[in-house]
Amino acid sequence: MRKSISQLVTVLVSDHDEFVGGVLRTEEALLGRLRDAVTSSTGGSGSSGTSSLASERTTLNDGAFALWEDITGRIASMLESATEGEKATKDPRRNLRRWLKAWQEAVKLEEVTETQELHQAGMLTRMIERIRDLFDPPTVKEIMGTCPSCRQRWWFTSARHGTRTSVMHSVLRTGYPVVVSCYDCGEHWTGEHELARLGLVLALWPRVEALTTHHVTLGGTDLVALPDVLALLQDVAG
Ligand SMILES: [Zn+2]
Repeated sequence: MRKSISQLVTVLVSDHDEFVGGVLRTEEALLGRLRDAVTSSTGGSGSSGTSSLASERTTLNDGAFALWEDITGRIASMLESATEGEKATKDPRRNLRRWLKAWQEAVKLEEVTETQELHQAGMLTRMIERIRDLFDPPTVKEIMGTCPSCRQRWWFTSARHGTRTSVMHSVLRTGYPVVVSCYDCGEHWTGEHELARLGLVLALWPRVEALTTHHVTLGGTDLVALPDVLALLQDVAG
C-alpha cells in the first residue's frame, strides 16, 4: 500500500492519477499547484471580491508562500547532499527529478539502507500532505489520552500563553481513511483494526497508570496527589 519513492516524487512533479474515495481522478503536480498559488499572490491585480473571500485568499497565499519557501529549500538541500554539492536550480521540480536520479543510482549501488529509505519516504509524504492540506484543510479533532507510543499527554501550541491540546488527535481528509496521530512523536494509527486497539489502550491507560505510578486525580474540584495503588497494597501486605 505504501507508495515508492519514485511514486511520491511523481505526485510532486507531474500530473498524475490518484484514487480519492474510490474514484480515480487526475491531480495536478503538487509543486506546480503550489507555485501557482504563490505567483497569484505576488502578481496581485486589482480584482474585486467580497471582503471575506479576499481575506480567505490572503490566508491561503501567506500559507502558500511560507510552504513554498520551506519545501523548495528542503528539496535543494536533498539534492545537494545526494550529489555532493550539485547546485540546485530555481525550479524545485527539476531539482527533485535530479535528486531522484541520484537516489536511484545509489539504490542500484546498494548504498541505501532501509532506514534511509523510510526517512526519505516520510519526508516526501509530509511535503505532499502539507501541500494538499493547504488547499483542502483536514478536519482535526482532539482525542483525550496519553500517547501509547511516547507517553506524552499534552502538546503546547503556544509556549507563551501555555495553550495546550491533547497530543492525540484524529485527522479527517476528504476521500482518505481516518488517521489518528500524535503531535509529539508522529506515530500514526489507521484502519479498523489499529483504531480499535488504540481505543482500547486509551481507555485502559488511566487505570494502568493509577496502579503503577504516583498520579494526580480530581477530588471534588481540587487536584489531589495520590500514591500508586500497587505500592499501597504492598505496604499493607508487608
Ligand atoms: Zn506520541
